[in-house]
Amino acid sequence: MSAPILYLVIPCYNEEAVLPVTAGLFSGKLQALQAAGRVAAESRVLYVDDGSTDGTWEVIGRLSDEGWAEGIRLSRNRGHQNALLAGLMTARERADVTISLDCDGQDDVEAVDAMLTEYEAGCDVVYGVRRDRKSDTVFKRGTAHLFYKLMAKLGADSVYNHADYRLMSRRALDGLAEFKEVNLFLRGLVPLVGLRSSSVYYDRSPRQAGKTHYPLRKMLRLAADGITSLSVRPLKLITGLGLGVFLVSLGMIVWSLVEYFRGATVSGWSSLMCVVLFLGGVQLLCIGVLGEYIGKIYGEVKHRPRYILQETTFNKETDDEAGGR
Ligand code: UDP
Ligand code: MG
Repeated sequence: MSAPILYLVIPCYNEEAVLPVTAGLFSGKLQALQAAGRVAAESRVLYVDDGSTDGTWEVIGRLSDEGWAEGIRLSRNRGHQNALLAGLMTARERADVTISLDCDGQDDVEAVDAMLTEYEAGCDVVYGVRRDRKSDTVFKRGTAHLFYKLMAKLGADSVYNHADYRLMSRRALDGLAEFKEVNLFLRGLVPLVGLRSSSVYYDRSPRQAGKTHYPLRKMLRLAADGITSLSVRPLKLITGLGLGVFLVSLGMIVWSLVEYFRGATVSGWSSLMCVVLFLGGVQLLCIGVLGEYIGKIYGEVKHRPRYILQETTFNKETDDEAGGR
C-alpha cells in the first residue's frame, strides 16, 4: 500500500491570535510524516474559516502561500460542528484519511502518529480520548463529567472524554455523508456509522492564545442538541412521569372524596396550592421538552444547507494566472 494522503481538518473562528502560533505544529507534523514515508506528499492542512470577523482568512491565505496548507471559507459563522463537517466533506474529495483537530493547540498533534498506526492496522475511525483533565478548571472538569453522565443516562451514548479530535478514513466519511441531518452532533453520529474503530489517548494542554468560544451557555446548548438529536428517551421519561402523576392524582381523588363524605372539607388552601402549582410546573416542563423536539423537527423539515462555501484557496495558482481573484 502506498502512503495515504492525509488531511488535517481544522475549524477556526476568530483565531488570528492563535493560528500563527500553532500553524507550524500542523505543517511540521505533516512534513515529518511525509519524510518518514507515512503519508503522501499531497497531504495538506485544511483550515476552515467559520465566518470569522477578524483577520483569520488573511492568515490562512498566507499559510496556504507557504505550502502544505489550504483553506475554505464559509459564508458566515455556522458553529464548530458545521464548520468541521464542511472541512471533512471537502477533504473527502481529496484525501484517503482525515484527522480533525482544534486550531488552538489543545489537541496534542503528537497523537497523530498513534492514530495513523491504528489506521494502518485497518481501523476506519480512531477516537482521540483525553487522558485526564488536569489542564481544565475545576468548574469545567465538573460540568464536563456531568455532561457525559447526563448524556449516557438520557440515551445519547458517546465516547467518554472524546470531543472532536478523531481520525476518519474516506470510507467512514462516505458513511457520514449519508447522514443528512441539519442538527449536527458529530461525536454522536460517528459511532452510528459503525466500521472498525479504536481509541488513542492524549493529554490535552491549555489553549495557546486567544480565548474559548465555548462558554457555559454554548456547552449547555450542545448538550441539549446532543441529547435531542441522538435519543428520544426524554419523551419516554415524560410518559413515565405523566403516568406517575396520574396514579398519584387517582389516590388524591379517592382521598378528597373520603374527606368530602366525612364532612371535613373546608380548610385546605395549602394543599390545593401545592397540587395546582406542582401540576402546572410538571406540565410546563413536559411541554418544554416536547417543544425542543418540535424545534428540531422544524429545522430538519426545512432542510436548509448546513454550510455554504464562500471561497477556497484550492486552485489559487490557476486563478492567479488567469488574472487574479
Ligand atoms: N470554532 C468554530 N466555530 C465556532 C466556534 C469555535 O470553528 O463558532 C472552532 C475554534 O476556532 C476552535 C474549535 O472550534 O478551533 C474549538 O473551540 P474553542 O477552542 O473555542 O473551544 P474549547 O476548546 O474551549 O471547548
Ligand atoms: Mg479549545
